[in-house]
Amino acid sequence: MSTKQNTLPIPSTHQIIKDLYPICRSITGDGLRATLEYVQKYIGIEITEVLSGTAVFDWTVPDEWNIRDGFICNDKGDRIVDFRESNLHVVNYSEPIRGSFSLDELRPHLHTIPDQPDAIPYVTSYYKQTWGFCLSHNLLKSLEDGQYTVEIDSSLEPGSLSYGELLVPGKTDQEILVSCHCCHPSLANDNLSGIAVAMHLARHLSNQENRFSYRFIFAPGTIGAIAWLAENEDVLPQIAGGLTLANLGDSGHFNYKRSRQHDSLIDNVVSLALNDSGHRYGIRNFSPYGYDERQYCSPGIDLPVGSFTRSIHGTFSEYHTSRDNLDFVNQESLKESFALLQRVVDILEHNSVFENLNPKCEPQLGKRGLYSTTGGFAATPDYSIALLWVLNYSDGTQSLMDISVRSGIAFDTIVQAANRLRDARLIEEKTDWLAGENEV
Ligand code: ZN
Repeated sequence: MSTKQNTLPIPSTHQIIKDLYPICRSITGDGLRATLEYVQKYIGIEITEVLSGTAVFDWTVPDEWNIRDGFICNDKGDRIVDFRESNLHVVNYSEPIRGSFSLDELRPHLHTIPDQPDAIPYVTSYYKQTWGFCLSHNLLKSLEDGQYTVEIDSSLEPGSLSYGELLVPGKTDQEILVSCHCCHPSLANDNLSGIAVAMHLARHLSNQENRFSYRFIFAPGTIGAIAWLAENEDVLPQIAGGLTLANLGDSGHFNYKRSRQHDSLIDNVVSLALNDSGHRYGIRNFSPYGYDERQYCSPGIDLPVGSFTRSIHGTFSEYHTSRDNLDFVNQESLKESFALLQRVVDILEHNSVFENLNPKCEPQLGKRGLYSTTGGFAATPDYSIALLWVLNYSDGTQSLMDISVRSGIAFDTIVQAANRLRDARLIEEKTDWLAGENEV
C-alpha cells in the first residue's frame, strides 16, 4: 500500500460532515462505499472489499444491504414515515417488505423514544433478520387505527463489506493506528466527526516527515475492525499504539479511555497532551465496552489502542437519535479536537530516550555555554532546570515525556534542553528505545 500525494484542497471538518451527512451508511453497501470514495478523493485511501460469507475470527461477513426507499402510507396515500426525509426512519439492515398492516400489526415494528418525543431513534438489526421503522413518539401517538401501506425497498444479498486504509510511511516501520467507524447513517457526531478529523490528521501527516508510520482505518464498527484485524495479523507486531476516534464535534470536554495495557506509550502521550492543553478533560481506565478499541484490545490482539472522544458514547441524550445532527457539532470543537491530536502526534514524534555520557556527578555546564554561572536556581528559567532534569534522568530508561511528567516542566522545554545537551555531546539518543524499532 502506498500513499498517493494528494493535493486536492480538503474541505473543513464541518463541511466534510455536511457532505457525508445525507448518505445512508451501514456496515456494508453502497452508502458505505460512497463514504469511503469521498474519503479516498481527499486522502487517497485504499478500499478493500471482504466478500459476504468470509469468516473473520468468530464472525462471518454478512450479506450486503442496500436500500432505495421505505415508507408507511396512511389510507389517504400520504407518506407519514418516509426514508427520503431521514434515513433513520428505516431500521438499518431491514429486510424488504411490502404489504398492508393494521396499526396493531405494525406496532411491534415501530421504534420511538418516549422520553424524547420529537426525536427519531437510530436502530439497527444486522444479525437478526427483521424489518422496522423509527419515528418520533409524537408521530406514533398521533396515528389512528386503520390500515397502513408499508414498503421497504431494500436488498440483502451476497456482496461485500468495504473498509478503507491509508499508510503514511515514516522513518521507521513502527506504526500508530488511527481508526474510526464509518457505518452510521445520518448521525453527525457519532461518527462523521471522527471521519472528518481523521481525514485532516492524515492530510497533516502526509505533508510532513514523520518518524512513526501512521495507519488510518475507516471501517464499519465491530465487524469492519474484526475483518481488518483478521486480514492483517502480520501488521500487528508493528503497531506501537493507536487511537479510535469518535464524537469529536460536540461541545463536551475531552475524554480519553486508556488502552487495556493501561500505561502504554499512547496512554502516556495522550495524558500529557491533555494535561498540557489547558482544556477540561477526563481520563478513564479501559473497559471492554465502547468503540473498536474493544477489538484492538481483545486479549488475543492486545494492541495499545485507546479511545479518544469528546462526549462519551451513550452518555449524551442526542446519542443515536436524529438530534445528533449538523447542529449538534460545531467547527470550534472540531478544530480543538484536531489541534489536540496534532499535539499528540507532536509529542509522539519528539519523544525519545537519551543516555547521559557524563553520568558521574553533574557535568560543568557553564564552560560549555549551556548554563548561567551567575544566577541562582530561583532566578533561572525552566529551561536551565530542564537541563538538570534531562541530565539526571537520561539513564537510558526514562523518556523525555517521563521527565516532563516527573519534573512538571513543559514537554517542549524538555525537548529543547535535550537537543542542546545532545549537540554538546553530553547525552546520546538510544536508537532502540522503541521496542522493535527498525529503520526502514
Ligand atoms: Zn454509535
